[in-house]
Amino acid sequence: MSIHLRAHAFAANPLRGLSASNAAAAAVSPSAAADALRSLLDAGAGAGAGADAAQPHLSKILPFRRGRPLARSQDPPPPPPHVPSSPASPPPIWRLAWLPPARVPGVPSDAFVFLGAHGEEEGKEASAYWAVDVSEGEGGSVGGAGDGSAFVDLRTLMVATDWRDRDAMGDLAIAGHARALLEWHSTARFCGACGSRAVPAEAGRRKQCSNESCKKRIYPRVDPVVIMLVIDKENDCALLSRQSRFVPRMWSCLAGFIEPGESLEEAVRRETWEETGIEVGEVIYHSSQPWPVGPSTMPCQLMVGFFAYAKSLEIHVDKKELEDAQWQSREDVKKALTFAEYEKAQRTNALKVNQICKGVEKGQSISADLNVETEEPAPMFFPGPFAIAHHLISSWAFEGAPKVPSSFSNL
Ligand SMILES: [Zn+2]
Repeated sequence: MSIHLRAHAFAANPLRGLSASNAAAAAVSPSAAADALRSLLDAGAGAGAGADAAQPHLSKILPFRRGRPLARSQDPPPPPPHVPSSPASPPPIWRLAWLPPARVPGVPSDAFVFLGAHGEEEGKEASAYWAVDVSEGEGGSVGGAGDGSAFVDLRTLMVATDWRDRDAMGDLAIAGHARALLEWHSTARFCGACGSRAVPAEAGRRKQCSNESCKKRIYPRVDPVVIMLVIDKENDCALLSRQSRFVPRMWSCLAGFIEPGESLEEAVRRETWEETGIEVGEVIYHSSQPWPVGPSTMPCQLMVGFFAYAKSLEIHVDKKELEDAQWQSREDVKKALTFAEYEKAQRTNALKVNQICKGVEKGQSISADLNVETEEPAPMFFPGPFAIAHHLISSWAFEGAPKVPSSFSNL
């Protein structure tokens, strides 16, 4: 069985989709939305929560604390009485916990970052969506105080997301975009040209140097990473590798950064050669995935996925980069794609999110849920459907890699 996603996790952000049906949202300019938000915040400071209703733009705020978005979790609805209850009831569902501006007091208006707009219903005015970091200052009291919401780690939400739940996948993409922007704001504090302070501009979508004689425009950056499944066509095998930081039994694709002056295909070949000593010929693009949950020094990576055909087969592992790398047959790879494990991880994390939102203390029943062992764990497994590595591996295992079109060669 292969999972077909409409888009990778963190892609297909509903606040950034361009379509005629979302025309009301397209009409909301960041600067107009920022003006509306500023007046809401000013009114909220004097008039309390009732101020929201009187304003033309609906503004919704997603607070973050230390990189974690505010989320809430709903218990699954009980099964209808005429349906016999199954042993595995559906897991809880998480959603982002948007707040009205009046619930985010004491935060300066230029700390809010515009995420986009969305019309809930056709013909009605679109809402403007914002993110803000409330880790410090007066914002420390925002959200998560016994109201069923809590600040939850984005990776936990990622694993907890049911990949068949379109709304949850949309919320995950919004949270990823928001986190990447906020992390960038917290690190890009100074102008790289003159060293003066960089201040937010265009509703937080970029920054600008505050030095009048410099005024350099500073934009959020994306760090591309090539990720490749190396394939031995003759023997119908794929190269899987382990890094020492991986959890036991987990194997994945090779990946690496691109060097200046290098094409993506050259980066695929160089990284494969450096890490495993295998020479790669044809390189075929598969798909790409935004990855806002990588190292904190990189607010947003872009994983660019490829199939790479091996020209040599002997493996020499670079132990500084990898713990191990091995050729695996298509049959063994298929066996390792055991969906029961991915569903169990999703369910376990959905329960964990639910307990965090309910305020269950760490170390209580959460750990009991997490320690459920499968009867016979597979000897290896791969990252779940939230990761592009999963789709590279399962596409090859179940469908076979595409051929290079005859009219095109990237060699
Ligand atoms: Zn400057």
